[in-house]
Amino acid sequence: MSRIFSGIQPSGELHIGNYLGAVKNWVKLQHEYETIICIVDYHAITIPYDPAQLRVRRREMATSLLAAGIDPMVATLFVQSQVPQHTELAWILNTITPLGELERQTQFKEKSQRQESVNAGILNYPVLQAADIMLYRADMIPVGEDQVQHLELSRVIARRWNAQFSPEADFFPEPKALLTPTRRIMGLDGQAKMSKSIGNTIGLLESPDAIWAKLRPAVTDPKRIKRTDPGTPEVCNIYHLHKAFSPPDTVQHVATQCSTAGWGCIDCKKVLADSMETELVPIRARARRFAEEPALVEDALATGAARARELAAETMRGVRERMGFS
Ligand code: SF4
Repeated sequence: MSRIFSGIQPSGELHIGNYLGAVKNWVKLQHEYETIICIVDYHAITIPYDPAQLRVRRREMATSLLAAGIDPMVATLFVQSQVPQHTELAWILNTITPLGELERQTQFKEKSQRQESVNAGILNYPVLQAADIMLYRADMIPVGEDQVQHLELSRVIARRWNAQFSPEADFFPEPKALLTPTRRIMGLDGQAKMSKSIGNTIGLLESPDAIWAKLRPAVTDPKRIKRTDPGTPEVCNIYHLHKAFSPPDTVQHVATQCSTAGWGCIDCKKVLADSMETELVPIRARARRFAEEPALVEDALATGAARARELAAETMRGVRERMGFS
């Protein structure tokens, strides 16, 4: 069975943007591939952070992932810092990664332009990403089209290491992109991608009342000013959320009602809120159970970390042997 690897930042509770954009797909993929999911807390410390907050957010992320449907009996879910081989392999890969390749990464350029002082961790971030993937010798990485550049560097690093230290037979597979139908979910402001830093999110575990309080004033088709104005569903974020949460016949109904001014935006949003409830009720119920029995989350992460350490140790045995360390 092919092995896939996915990493996610410990950014606290999931919001529906990262649920629809990635996690919902992982829940499906875990039954089709050997699936490894890593909460990448070493990646999170390349920007200033509060250690107490990091602990809380890591735990909230783990709870959200389990509530969303990641099954620790099926997938390996763990925290990156619990597996020391990530940083060990990253150091090794640093020694074969040209500086120019790192400086050319779009993410580095963007982040370094935003900050006055740039730490080396931001530059080397993609090397740690390559180490994350290569440590588990993952064959495929679920990515959206906008993330293919990050993966390309991991492929280059794997190829270079193989050429230098394992020329007879490739020790590391070159990880391939498993292009997935990830959705770019816009925030409630309809202006930017849904993101906690912008404050335009709906939390995956929020109550129905809290969700409605956010949906009700959410931006719609800006040209639909009066109830009698026909709308254009494609330009409305609420319509795109319907496509994610509502059944196809409801989506069709939304498009018709909108473009004929058959209903108002509040009617449309009420239907969306109902569709969201259908999907979110079981997720919230699982989250409640984890809140009542926190040991379930700890046990899931401990089991995942033990399995990850086993795989990582096996890889590092092969790396050390081929590089003259054993
Ligand atoms: S009716 Fe629905 S899809 Fe149309 S503009 Fe209003 S909220 Fe958007």
